[in-house]
Amino acid sequence: MSKKDKVFSVKIRRDYCKGCGLCVEFCKQGVLETSPNLNSMGYYYADPVKPENCIGCMVCTLVCPDLAVEVYSE
Ligand code: SF4
Ligand code: SF4
Repeated sequence: MSKKDKVFSVKIRRDYCKGCGLCVEFCKQGVLETSPNLNSMGYYYADPVKPENCIGCMVCTLVCPDLAVEVYSE
């Protein structure tokens, strides 16, 4: 199986997210969007709306200042 064939999961630790939008901006696959809902801290958290588009580049995990994004292969 090549890397291209792998399936990746993207998980947002919702209550760690401050809604800065960096991961949404940097994900060029359109996986992430800002939720219209608030987390327990009162922030509009990032939401993986198109997880099937994830290519596992890990950029979202690198840009998140709050370690709120996890990406792993299934
Ligand atoms: S790993 Fe890459 S493709 Fe997947 S959600 Fe993060 S930035 Fe987007
Ligand atoms: S980069 Fe981190 S803190 Fe910012 S919106 Fe994404 S998950 Fe939330």
